[in-house]
Amino acid sequence: MAYEFLPPGPTPEPLSFTHFPDRVSCFIFRNWNMIPVATMAKLLGTTSAKILRIAKFMGLPKYEAGQTKFWKTRGYISLIRQNWHLLPYEQILEMLDMSEKELAFCLKEDDFLYHKLGSLKPAAKVLKYEEPSEETIARLKEIKNELCADLVKESKNFAPFDFKKCARVAPAKTKNLRMIYPYSASYGDPLMDDKLSDFSDEMLKDYARAGINGLWFQAVLYGLVPWDRAPEMSGDYERRVKNLRRLTDRAAKHGVGIYLYFNEPRSIMLEWADKFKDLEGATDKEGTLCLCTSKKPVLDYLENAMATLFAQCPNLAGIFTITRSENTTNCAYSTDEHKNSCPICKDRLTSDIIAEVLTALANGIGRSNPKARVRPCSIWWMQLPHG
Ligand SMILES: [Zn+2]
Repeated sequence: MAYEFLPPGPTPEPLSFTHFPDRVSCFIFRNWNMIPVATMAKLLGTTSAKILRIAKFMGLPKYEAGQTKFWKTRGYISLIRQNWHLLPYEQILEMLDMSEKELAFCLKEDDFLYHKLGSLKPAAKVLKYEEPSEETIARLKEIKNELCADLVKESKNFAPFDFKKCARVAPAKTKNLRMIYPYSASYGDPLMDDKLSDFSDEMLKDYARAGINGLWFQAVLYGLVPWDRAPEMSGDYERRVKNLRRLTDRAAKHGVGIYLYFNEPRSIMLEWADKFKDLEGATDKEGTLCLCTSKKPVLDYLENAMATLFAQCPNLAGIFTITRSENTTNCAYSTDEHKNSCPICKDRLTSDIIAEVLTALANGIGRSNPKARVRPCSIWWMQLPHG
């Protein structure tokens, strides 16, 4: 099947899981109590009763529908990872009830997930239920005997994502930044949740009491401030900004600053690449269009977009940013080989390129909120190839 947004491959043969007698049992085992049985049944074209029967053969713990409640929103990366070699894209989309665009965003921007998955999509065939043979059933029963009894017992009291307990220590007050990732926040795109359920008042209060004065989570700049040349890339940006403003105002009342984690400028997905051809820099091995920050319009976007964002969210405390490694960003984010593929940046100092990115971000922020902080992370700076 051809997809408009999802990365096409390479598409090698999937890994085989020969400790299971077939892919169906592997799928059920891996997703047990994470995906509702009814969803599994629909996906495989069978009935819930047949899924439950296979699970019983394998001695899996009792089915607890309540345990499946949060996996789709809070554990979707685990679900994608453990099904990456088992299911084709269309069944992963169905399983997660995601649009193609949403999954493509997640693979590209969710902490470079596609890269972590090997920058490939195994050519898994559509998985359909098949009646187990006698031989298959015999192996499923062996699995039951091999399962550690303690594991099954422990899982009975397991409540996924039930860790809403905060440290109650009260360290000495400080003016220094004490910033952490919020324990209950999902990664991805949390500002699309109008309820901001990742950031309850209870949590903000607990953190303030524990001496935390900064929380961070990732953001993608084009998801908050559109490029004039391709506003269609930014979808619900107004909704995200509105929620960010609400969150930053609420957190400020508790004395907690919200810091956005940016790696910018994010590369451009191929469907919009035509509009950015003149800004193209180094060749991106992930197949997206890398923006060259040695070209003025790119730095202008970074500066102006930051100015816009911080004007719209006056209580946004600042950003922290990674300029090398991580996502495909400027032409010098990765190796020398990568940088040398840009006709402009190949003759420039990496340190100059990085400094220009940071200056553009800081200037934009400073225009709207001089008190906001810019915290660059120095990861990979020690390996700047040309000083
Ligand atoms: Zn360049």
